[in-house]
Amino acid sequence: MKRLLCLALGLLLLSGCTPAVGGDGETLQFFAMDTVMSVTVSDGDAGAAEAVQAMLYELDSALSRTQENSEISMLNISAGTGNPVALSDTIFDLLESAVALSERTKGAFNPAVAPIMDAWGFTTDEKHVPSDEELQKLLPLLDLGALKLENGRALLTVEGMSVDLGGIAKGYAGDKAADLLSDYGVSSALVSLGGNITAIGTKPDGSDWRVAVRDPKDQESYLCILPLTDKTVSTSGGYERYFEQDGVIYHHIIDPKTGYPARSGLQSVSVVSTSGTVADALSTALFVMGEEDALELWRASDDFEAVLVRDDGVVLVTEGLENGFEFLGDSNGYTYEIIRR
Ligand code: AMP
Ligand code: MG
Repeated sequence: MKRLLCLALGLLLLSGCTPAVGGDGETLQFFAMDTVMSVTVSDGDAGAAEAVQAMLYELDSALSRTQENSEISMLNISAGTGNPVALSDTIFDLLESAVALSERTKGAFNPAVAPIMDAWGFTTDEKHVPSDEELQKLLPLLDLGALKLENGRALLTVEGMSVDLGGIAKGYAGDKAADLLSDYGVSSALVSLGGNITAIGTKPDGSDWRVAVRDPKDQESYLCILPLTDKTVSTSGGYERYFEQDGVIYHHIIDPKTGYPARSGLQSVSVVSTSGTVADALSTALFVMGEEDALELWRASDDFEAVLVRDDGVVLVTEGLENGFEFLGDSNGYTYEIIRR
C-alpha cells in the first residue's frame, strides 16, 4: 500500500493493452486480478487511490476461481446441488449485467465459459488443445438458462457448470472505481486495469485524457490514440494470453458456439463507452462476433464506439471516435477507415 510513483506525468505508459498518455497526477501502482493496475488521481481527498486499491482487492477475492471460499467459487462448487448461494450486492449486480450482455450479444459474450477455459488449461500453467469430443461434451454447460438469479441469490442448476467473469470484471471494476473516486471528491483521474482504462473527468488542464491503443502484433508500438473524458476503453485481443502447439497459436477468447478460440478475422477490438461494464463485455463479444456482426450491433446501439483491427491490417474506427482520433499505425503497415452509420 505505498505510492510507487509521484510524478508530473508527461507521457505515462501504463500496463495493459491500452497505455495512457496522461496529465499531472499521483499514481498508485499494484497487482490485482492477475494484472498490473494503476490509479492516477489529480485532485480530491488524500487516500482516494488507496480506497480504490482496497476495493479492487476485495472484488478480486470475491471473483477468484482459485480461492475456494470466494463468492464465485462457492457458486461454482454448488452447481447441480440445488442450493442457491447468497451473494453480495456487487457480485449479484455484476452477474446480472453479465447475463444481460450475453443476451444482447446473442451469446458471443458468455460468462459461463469457465468449463471450456479449464479444458484448454487457461486457468492453469498447463495449456493444451483438448480433444474435440471433450469440447462437444462441455458446450451444453454454457447454457445460461441454467443460471438462476433471484433476490440476491444465484443457482447453477446443472452440475459441472461454472462462471468466469474475466471478460467483464475489470470494466465493472472501472465503474466502481469511478463511483468511489467521485465519493472522495475526485474530478480528474485515470484508472488503468489491465487493458481497461477508465478516464474520470478531464485532465487537470481541462483537455481530454489521451489513451493509446497498442498494435496487437507489436506490443512496443501504438496503433492510435483516443481522446477520453468520463469514458472507459477496453481492449480484447488474442495476443493478451495464448500458447502455441504444433505451430498453431491458441488464444484465450473463446467462441461459445464452438468451444475453440474465436477466429473471426479480427486481431483486436477496443470498445469505448460511458459504462466500463459494457465496454469490457462488448470488447470480448465483438472480438468473437467478427466485423459484420460487430458493426451491425454498433449500428443498432447508441452506447458504445469501437476500433476493430482486422487481420489484413485495416483498422475500422466507428464515426463517434473520429473527433480527436490520432492514427499511429502507418509505420507498421496499417491503414484505417472511419465507419459511418
Ligand atoms: P477480455 O480480455 O476482456 O476479452 O476477456 C477475456 C477473458 O474472458 C478470458 O481470459 C476468459 O476468462 C473470459 N472469456 C473468454 N471467452 C469469453 C467469452 N466468449 N465470453 C465471456 N468471457 C470470455
Ligand atoms: Mg472484456
